[in-house]
Amino acid sequence: MSSKPTIALAPGDGIGPEIMQATLDLFREAKVHDHVDFVNVEMGKSVFDKGDSRGMTDIAIRTTEDCGILFKGPMETPKGGGGKSINVTLRKMFNAYANFRHFKTLPGVTTVYSKAGINLDMTIVRENIEDTYGGVEHRLSNDMIQCKRLISAPGCDQVHRYAFQTARKMGVKKVHCGHKANIMKMTDGLFLERFKRTAQDFPEIETGDVIVDALCMNLVVKPQQYQMIVLPNLQGDIVSDLCAGLVGGLGFAPSANIGRHISIFEAVHGTAPDIAGKGIANPTSLILSGIMMLRHVGLLKHAAIIENALLAALESGVHTGDFGDPAMKNYKPAVGTKDFTQAIINKLGTKPETVAAVPVPEQGAWAIEKHARPASQQVIRTFTNVITHVVGCDIYLDTPLAPASVAEEMQRCCADTPFNITLISNRGTQVWPTGSVYTECVDYYRVRFELKKDIPVGTIGQSRAVALMDKIAEKFTVCSFELLRTFDGIKGYSLAQGQ
Ligand code: NAP
Repeated sequence: MSSKPTIALAPGDGIGPEIMQATLDLFREAKVHDHVDFVNVEMGKSVFDKGDSRGMTDIAIRTTEDCGILFKGPMETPKGGGGKSINVTLRKMFNAYANFRHFKTLPGVTTVYSKAGINLDMTIVRENIEDTYGGVEHRLSNDMIQCKRLISAPGCDQVHRYAFQTARKMGVKKVHCGHKANIMKMTDGLFLERFKRTAQDFPEIETGDVIVDALCMNLVVKPQQYQMIVLPNLQGDIVSDLCAGLVGGLGFAPSANIGRHISIFEAVHGTAPDIAGKGIANPTSLILSGIMMLRHVGLLKHAAIIENALLAALESGVHTGDFGDPAMKNYKPAVGTKDFTQAIINKLGTKPETVAAVPVPEQGAWAIEKHARPASQQVIRTFTNVITHVVGCDIYLDTPLAPASVAEEMQRCCADTPFNITLISNRGTQVWPTGSVYTECVDYYRVRFELKKDIPVGTIGQSRAVALMDKIAEKFTVCSFELLRTFDGIKGYSLAQGQ
């Protein structure tokens, strides 16, 4: 049996097997296989087709856990039927909490910026597990659907620490936090606050924060002002693709999903079913992801040699059909995946001439530590010993009544309880006791109940709030319920718009 470390390998669907083969051919020629074995795991369409809605077999899960590294091609998400994206499932299941993408101007890849002589080199670190990507969604009334946005302090801390540690390793001087904390004061507010907290441990790195809409405009107008940006999941997903566009498209954007125990490396683009099997797919994104993987596992010398060969090949004008600029001096007709890969193989050991070559370091040791397999899932916590008190509840109703009628009914329900009704909102905007008659309402209300003035905080527990909900549920459809609590005396809930 081989004593080499192993990497789990899932070629993927559509163009996946073609670009994975190209990448492995290049790696073999660069002698990567002298240091590591690749072991195939069954994931993607073939598993979905067998009726397993996870898209991966038990053996594939166990092999990936044992290897600690998964190198994967793009995988098809079955359309409809409630099937979840296997790509998102993998990241969440293995707690790959940080998505790292590096966007660099590449020779031979023409963009508006390269034409203007602007060289881009920036990274996006995106929180990878939480936010709306939990996919926790419910239909609450005839007309209202909700998606829960979950942001946790440990989740923020993990991604911010990874970002700053990576910035330190890469020599990045300034890290920005992208967010929307001006609107989502609690969720994005926590993300930003934990960013600032983590930054204190990295005093040599300058920090800034930027609201995500302004960030998008800045990235288009002057992208070179950013070196590294860390963002929550959904915003990070959108901004990453924007950045891919700045350097030539998804075909040039590598992606690493980093976790404490398991990390996943993949191309950013999908399975491109329209060109699958034609031998014309561009393997650059997967090759770049593979280079990131080699660096991650400590094969620094191999990573640099392969990257220099890729840069030298691109610089020579070789390209697949999805890129290449006829206006370039050394323009050549497009080639297929195999010839493109062979052109990179031919450049192994050489360096690019028109762009800076990557320094080739001494070979490092295998960098992946083997941890003992945990006996069960870990509970990770940031804040402990916090004193919490119940101060009320928000009860959400499915009703077509107008706000004043809802208020009348609710006042009757809470008359003999420790709670007063303090506000009613619709789609987050206060509609009672004050508001505008021009606020249009839908069939889903939040009714806020807070402790009556003469009831001291700390004397009432959650059971009284649940009893109030029970009472209301006798007459109304209660869609959901949230306790209002203070945490060390600070309100753990937001105000309504217009309150
Ligand atoms: P896509 O597969 O990225 O393809 C969009 C188009 O981009 C293709 O039709 C092709 O355009 C071009 N393209 C993408 N990668 C290319 C490459 N390597 N070489 C040359 N051209 C390339 O996006 P999609 O059509 O939205 O998604 C298709 C499937 O992929 C879906 O099932 C989706 O769920 C899945 N997906 C998987 C991942 C992943 O595994 N990480 C990510 C995204 C999507 P032309 O028309 O120019 O040929």
